[in-house]
Amino acid sequence: MELLDKLAANLEALADKNLIRKRRTVETPCGPRVTVEGRELLAFCSNDYLGLAAHPAVTAALKEGTDLYGAGSGASHLISGHSRAHALLEERLAEFVGSSLVEVRALYFSTGYMANLAAITALAAGDKDTEIFSEALNHASLIDGARLARTTVKVYPHADVEALDELLGTSRAVNKIVVTDSVFSMDGNLAPLPALLALCEKHGAWLVVDDAHGFGTLGTNGSGALEHFGLRSPYLVYIGTLGKAAGVGGAFVAAHATVIETLVQRARPYIFTTAAPPALAHALLTSLDIIAGAEGRERRSHLAGLVAQWHDGLQLTGWRALPSQTAIQPVVIGANDATMAAAAALYQRGIWVGGIRPPTVPADSARLRVTLSAGHTAADVARLIDAVNEVNAEINTHMERSRDGT
Ligand SMILES: *Cc1c(COP(=O)(O)O)cnc(C)c1O
Repeated sequence: MELLDKLAANLEALADKNLIRKRRTVETPCGPRVTVEGRELLAFCSNDYLGLAAHPAVTAALKEGTDLYGAGSGASHLISGHSRAHALLEERLAEFVGSSLVEVRALYFSTGYMANLAAITALAAGDKDTEIFSEALNHASLIDGARLARTTVKVYPHADVEALDELLGTSRAVNKIVVTDSVFSMDGNLAPLPALLALCEKHGAWLVVDDAHGFGTLGTNGSGALEHFGLRSPYLVYIGTLGKAAGVGGAFVAAHATVIETLVQRARPYIFTTAAPPALAHALLTSLDIIAGAEGRERRSHLAGLVAQWHDGLQLTGWRALPSQTAIQPVVIGANDATMAAAAALYQRGIWVGGIRPPTVPADSARLRVTLSAGHTAADVARLIDAVNEVNAEINTHMERSRDGT
């Protein structure tokens, strides 16, 4: 039982640092209003940025998908699990992001986590002559992908193009791979992709862009960060996830056909796993129609209005709302306990906002992570703003009182 004692001690150490995480069980579909333990909450914590997770056309397509293809795929893609639904989705995705890439092909994965592991390990090609340059605030799945690639990994400081230039310039590696989030998931800001791509072209490096939070929300057509910045290059490898703005699940890698064929042949996170249910791929075709069409444009423009409303309405003392222009709107508080107290006070008011603590964010930068969605109304956001302003004042007063000993 020694191991159990050790695990229990580790958990206690987490509890001492106020780092125990709890799951809340949601009884209703993902949306602006959810029911948790019989209580209705106004939720600002999902990544369903366009409000498609419970969109009637998408859920109808999912049902149609099960009629056409059944529930499960039955096997991995290379055995017998690759369905026509997957194939159609991959064609559609390649077309959708195709103007940013050259000789493009797309490959659908069950999760973004696996797509990232696959893309990085396959590009590294098990080659000691490869060096990976990883942005400091990258998502855990990119960090794990770089570890799994078993090659040298250099971490460059957040958004520091000059530091990266120097690292690339002094590297003797034959294959250089720069890996970055496009929209940083806990800060909401954009990576300087045009400058990064220019550096990659200068140094003969590849640029892997994880657009988990940009796909669907950025660009006039919603095809993501590359469209937003108007980038195009054969040295780009693009990863979009489909469980966030696209509202369903899974992810895809889009890149030069040779990169994609390498993934099919070599990427263990692609090969050794059961293909996602084909109905998901079928439903995603409808999500893509919405994202790329007039409704998607309307939803993105409504979302942009909510972002502006949020920045206009906040009146905070001591806390720092980050200047993000995306749906991710963090309020940095700093201490773990104050952050969790703020999240709890909002919850008391019927508003669900996630409190994010280390190691998800750097030490002493615990924060509320507000996510806005096209599913929210201006009235929803007004309620959120009032509640955050109130809780900020309340916690500050409380802290002053305890400092004064009154
Ligand atoms: C959510 C996320 C992923 C993982 O995608 P899943 O489909 O949820 O596994 C990868 N990268 C970033 C930046 C993310 O936010």
